[in-house]
Amino acid sequence: MAGDTVRRGRFAPSPTGLLHLGHAYAALVAAREASEGQFLLRIEDIDRDRCKTEFEAAIYEDLAWLGLEWQRPVMRQSERMEAYRAALAQLAPFSYPCRCRRGDIRAALSAPQEGALPAGPDGLIYPGTCRGRHLSKAAPDDVIRLDTARAFDALGLDRLSFRDETIMPGHDHSLTRDEFLDGIGDVILSRRGMGTSYHLAVVVDDAAQGIDIVTRGKDLFDSTWIHTLLQKLLKLPTPLYHHHRLIRDDTGKRLAKRDDARTIRHYRDEGTSPADLRRLVGF
Ligand code: GLU
Repeated sequence: MAGDTVRRGRFAPSPTGLLHLGHAYAALVAAREASEGQFLLRIEDIDRDRCKTEFEAAIYEDLAWLGLEWQRPVMRQSERMEAYRAALAQLAPFSYPCRCRRGDIRAALSAPQEGALPAGPDGLIYPGTCRGRHLSKAAPDDVIRLDTARAFDALGLDRLSFRDETIMPGHDHSLTRDEFLDGIGDVILSRRGMGTSYHLAVVVDDAAQGIDIVTRGKDLFDSTWIHTLLQKLLKLPTPLYHHHRLIRDDTGKRLAKRDDARTIRHYRDEGTSPADLRRLVGF
């Protein structure tokens, strides 16, 4: 932990598989970033089809084995639907229902374009087909999108910024409105059948948990722009960020949850000690 300021930090895994070495590293960094007794855990289980209670139980077991301690009770996103509904209602003036499926979006983007389709941290850049549809016309299986241009205009902002304590520490990272519109676009606030999206839930919950330092992998760096914009729209503070390096396998590939050989459970079963595992991830 840097300095004397009290910092609340968190580790926010999704229980869609066993934790691997990359998660061990992320959890260890997040716990180190937090002040004594201010490390929180959040179970990101909004995707009910992919999340399993056995993986949630394994998360607690693996983290305790690593020697980590966290505050109780643990926040579980599946129990936070009311808070997401309230946030969505607050964002209603900048939202619209969208009925496009991936194929529609690809077709709309392919028409004027050859080669790779434009994509950002939230997937393909939405071409705006449903923009302008009113929320009152939403069908149950529509997604809800943010009308990003309208959101920037309402805020009177022409750029966003946040700070990362390891990447350019002491300086603002910044992104202009146009860069956001071109490179990220109208992100999804509520996924089909889910009542929220990763982006909305993470912003609402980091604020609800009073998190001042968000620690997560560099792969999520560009998602932080989305979170910064949502924080402004919801009048929530923007925390400090720490986007850490990613743990890769011997071939340089990012670790995936299906890579069984690199799960914490596998190392435990092989008799690896917590101290050895820490060393393995260079901690
Ligand atoms: N739940 C996300 C994951 O497991 C991490 C979210 C975050 O740290 O913001 O990748």
